[in-house]
Amino acid sequence: MNPLHARYPFFEGAREAVEAAGVALPTLVAEDAPAVARGRERVERALLSGTTASETPREWSVQDELLSYPIARILVSLIDAPAAVRKYAAAEAATAADRFTDDFETSDDGLKSTSRRRLSLDDVLREFDLADDVRAEPLERGRDPDWYRVALGSYLTLADPDWGERWRLVNREVVDGTVRVERGDLSRLLREAVERRVADGLPFQVRGTAGGDALADSLAEEVGTLRDLLADRRDVRDIDTVAPDLFPPCMSHLLDRVRRDNELDAHSTFALTAFLTGIGMDTDEIVRFYRDTALDEETVRYQTEYLRDDTGTQFGAPTCATMQAYGDCVNMDKRCETIAHPMSYYEKALDEADEVRDWREREA
Ligand code: SF4
Repeated sequence: MNPLHARYPFFEGAREAVEAAGVALPTLVAEDAPAVARGRERVERALLSGTTASETPREWSVQDELLSYPIARILVSLIDAPAAVRKYAAAEAATAADRFTDDFETSDDGLKSTSRRRLSLDDVLREFDLADDVRAEPLERGRDPDWYRVALGSYLTLADPDWGERWRLVNREVVDGTVRVERGDLSRLLREAVERRVADGLPFQVRGTAGGDALADSLAEEVGTLRDLLADRRDVRDIDTVAPDLFPPCMSHLLDRVRRDNELDAHSTFALTAFLTGIGMDTDEIVRFYRDTALDEETVRYQTEYLRDDTGTQFGAPTCATMQAYGDCVNMDKRCETIAHPMSYYEKALDEADEVRDWREREA
């Protein structure tokens, strides 16, 4: 099997490889094959951490990785919630975008070449029928171009004005039916292309189809666990106060770590950003809040966008149980014994405080 297909399982070639392998997914599920566990991890990581990359990549073979993708799609379909589809597709796209960057840097630079085949930008453009619509601006030999021209039609199809003012056409240089974009913006457009492909056809009907009921019954436990994770969002009171001194111990600890060590695991960054979003901070405020850390602004912006539904609803911070499961529940105090969610801790702390000064007032 081609390792590239495992790395990019939503590519047309990967779908054909799964078909050619002749593996029956119901058999995999019935035999509790490793691909099923990896498929569940894919969705779980999407819902909790905004990525589908495995935490234990060495545990899985190329075949497990490849087959876990159609299993994950079945799981997302069985969860049957629009938020699950959105979160899952966005997480697959974010993971792919990281891998594209890694592959492009390495494939363009012979010095870093390894035995693993890397994708080039041209490969990805061809995959999404964009080869004729994107061209690099000429630059000195030996350097990668920083600017590209994207055909207007493709730009308008992929770019969303909700991403920010600079994505509006009036704020772009448009010449001869093309839009000028920087390399990072081209990556954003490609991520969107991946997200749309992954979301396409989801959710599909499983129950009521040939063999579908048995498949759904076999996956009932996994689906129940994943639904619980999705429900791991709560209606928080309309909090709009940023008082870092009153943060729950877990969030203070994560904040210390990101400031001191300049890095956090993806799920920890996700939990902290979800908490900050949940207490009413907007994207610019969160970017300012993280400014003394090494967290990259584009990642922070993407995470906050990801944490917000189309309806504007927040994807909540994880519960205490989830924080404990990930080893992020630390320094518990007396108030922790009375709550089950970091947001409840913060609500109580705000209620019980004599005086509350909002961080945003100090910053103003
Ligand atoms: S009990 Fe909950 S609020 Fe307290 S530190 Fe642990 S995760 Fe945070």
